[in-house]
Amino acid sequence: MAPTPMMQQYLQVKSDYQDAFLFFRLGDFYEMFYDDALKASQILEITLTSRGGTGDDRIPMCGVPHHAAQNYIDQLISKGHKVALCEQVEDPKTTKGMVKREVVRLITPGTHTEGKSIDSKSNMFLAAAEQMADGFALSYVDISTGEASAIYIAGTENALLQELQSLNIKELVVSDQLFLLLNEESQDLVLSIEPMDFVYTADERLLAECPDDLKLSIQRLLTYISRTQKQSLDHIQPFTFNENGQLLSIDFHSKRNLELLQSIRGGETKGTLLWLLDETVTAMGSRKLKQWLHQPLANRHLIEKRQQLVESLINQYFVRVELQELLKEVYDLERLSGRIAFGSASGRDLAQLRSSLEKVPAIISELANSGHGTLANFSDKLDRCGEVCELLGAISENPPLSSKEGGVIRDGFHAKLDEYRYASRNGKDWIAQLEQEERQRTGIKSLKIGYNRIFGYYIEISKANMHLADLERYERKQTLANAERYITPELKEKETLILTAEEESLNLEYELFVKIREEVKQYIGRIQQLASTLSELDVFMSFANVAEKYRFVKPVFNDSREISIIEGRHPVVEKMLNKQHYVPNDCVLTDNQNMLLITGPNMSGKSTYMRQVALTIVLAQIGSYVPAESANLPIVDQIFTRIGAADDLVSGQSTFMVEMLESQYAITHATERSLLLFDEIGRGTSTYDGMALAQSMIEYIHENIGANTLFSTHYHELTALDQSLDKLSNVHVAAMEQSGKVVFLHKVKKGPADKSYGIHVAELAELPQPILARARELLVSFEAENKKHVSQVEQLSFFDDRDTESEEVLQMIADVNIAAITPLQSLQLLNDLQVKLSKKE
Ligand code: ADP
Repeated sequence: MAPTPMMQQYLQVKSDYQDAFLFFRLGDFYEMFYDDALKASQILEITLTSRGGTGDDRIPMCGVPHHAAQNYIDQLISKGHKVALCEQVEDPKTTKGMVKREVVRLITPGTHTEGKSIDSKSNMFLAAAEQMADGFALSYVDISTGEASAIYIAGTENALLQELQSLNIKELVVSDQLFLLLNEESQDLVLSIEPMDFVYTADERLLAECPDDLKLSIQRLLTYISRTQKQSLDHIQPFTFNENGQLLSIDFHSKRNLELLQSIRGGETKGTLLWLLDETVTAMGSRKLKQWLHQPLANRHLIEKRQQLVESLINQYFVRVELQELLKEVYDLERLSGRIAFGSASGRDLAQLRSSLEKVPAIISELANSGHGTLANFSDKLDRCGEVCELLGAISENPPLSSKEGGVIRDGFHAKLDEYRYASRNGKDWIAQLEQEERQRTGIKSLKIGYNRIFGYYIEISKANMHLADLERYERKQTLANAERYITPELKEKETLILTAEEESLNLEYELFVKIREEVKQYIGRIQQLASTLSELDVFMSFANVAEKYRFVKPVFNDSREISIIEGRHPVVEKMLNKQHYVPNDCVLTDNQNMLLITGPNMSGKSTYMRQVALTIVLAQIGSYVPAESANLPIVDQIFTRIGAADDLVSGQSTFMVEMLESQYAITHATERSLLLFDEIGRGTSTYDGMALAQSMIEYIHENIGANTLFSTHYHELTALDQSLDKLSNVHVAAMEQSGKVVFLHKVKKGPADKSYGIHVAELAELPQPILARARELLVSFEAENKKHVSQVEQLSFFDDRDTESEEVLQMIADVNIAAITPLQSLQLLNDLQVKLSKKE
């Protein structure tokens, strides 16, 4: 059977959106058909029905009410699907025949900006990647706030996928070639192809900071956004780029190992550096802090500028408290800007924008009058956006959620609107008065004047009082079970006046509202700039609070590579320890001695010590104070870690592979300005293997890289390396034995550890006594065995092959004149050689 015209329209639209659920607007519902309906009814648990035809010809169908669609869209998007919203783009009342329908927006995991599943404290990035000779160009943008960046990623697809994971990117826009390359491995990532049939011409301003070879990925990203969102991209901000190493780079593994933003176990915030640092009071501030943690700085000047602000705020306690109170009243200006750009901002959004902007003068004066030059200068960066405030003066005090039902524009703003409103309010008063009059005239106390959409205004009289109705004037309109409804000519006349006034008023009001919203749009760039400055202020205050609360100090920077952290602490472990005392430790690395080999029993604090050094560097390079008595630090270009994974993965094989991959990455990318942390390298393989690898890595770093390195190990044999490697020195984390039990002192001291206390730790873990006793016994015998073995090896090497038989064999071979010997003679010779060797055995 041929499809109906409407189904033809549906199929036509659907053919352009094969990879999305098509939400096809029919009246008050979005309907889905065919496969979409079959799948959606399962995912969303809604009833599957059908339409048209008979038997097999029937078309599967399911639908969701228009007003409740958001919730269903959320569900589909969070499962990695896309939704194409197809609306009626003509008014059905004024259209003859079929109403025109078009997809007005494609909602995808990377472009979904509204809804319950959106975490306002995190950015939601959509990214595009382009393959390059030795890696990838990656650009990404948060559509809801307009923030945008571009970076290079060296390495294979794996490096790209890891970076995406670390930025929590759900959707990647690619060419069809790259799609083929990534498709197999992308797992939870949604890959969207942008063929670039047309190319969005980006404003040069957006691309100014980026090198040319990153521009293609930005073009692809913007083209995709413009094609799918069909809305203005005015709020997209210039793409930032890490120019000439202005940023400290920390690879995906290291960010995870150091637990900067997510804990290793469970990926939560609790227990991370972010958890400790985030005392911001706005969602914008919280997002800014995350961005800084993702990309600490590597430019001393920029870091010191941040430090100065933190310092001033630490010194100005009352200013800080005041400012924090004011900032709490500022709404999410970045997301509001996004909604204004998209034309989806409501009257309430504009009122929120206004009330936020109203706080700015007070913030400026608080900073300017602080008596502190740095803060006063900072206040110059804040833009009051006076023009915007003026425009928003038109918006009423408390606009309703919906912008079409009136109440958005304040009284007194527009003469015509006031007139309509007066007419409609006046009319309503007139009706209230008429009700009184009619009651008096008829003597019916219960008489009332009501309104409904179909009959308009009517006079209602209960059946019991009907005999009192003034039927000369009243015209019967409707009969109910207990009452009669009447109208009168004058009531109808007033009704027309009221309804026209009301309709005109709503139309005019909406028109005015949209006009204001459009006008505000031209100031989006300034509002975003203001938002960014306010969120920085929020982060600086958070740093100041944290520094005060946890006794942090201001780090000093040097231009060499020296690290001198005195009485440093691991701030997160310290916070977790609660009442227990955290033992502070120094870390001093100089140009002549910049590698530490750290030994000490398990659980003594080796990895905590290494992490604390890395966290101190990260804190310093985001502009924060650091947990120490004093810290003199270099500017580090990259941090690499090989820590911790051994504890979370079960299978030995894959643990070891991960260990080697991370080591490989670190060793091939580190420079002499990098910080390397290696924890227990070689643990995942056999002893000799592991020890050999550990030693050769240390030697390689020492000879070829020269980076500041902390290397912890349980191979005591390696502590002898300080003899051959002049930049390496031994330290150990002290523990002592007290009545047969190990006591951890957590104190880092010079020199190698004396023993490994493994069995003591097992005892702490309360392994059964018989196991511990047997282990002690075995240890004694292993140690004795080892001594014997070593002496055997030594003896063997004395013998070597310097025995007479071997000497003779070698001499015989050397004496052969190959040109003169026959095949038979050579066989005879071989035989003689074999006889000689057999005597040797
Ligand atoms: P290792 O790497 O030597 O096996 P960890 O660094 O994992 O040991 O430390 C084990 C535990 O010891 C940590 O979880 C922490 O509770 C505690 N710890 C480590 N360093 C300190 C310290 N400096 N002060 C107090 N407690 C510490």
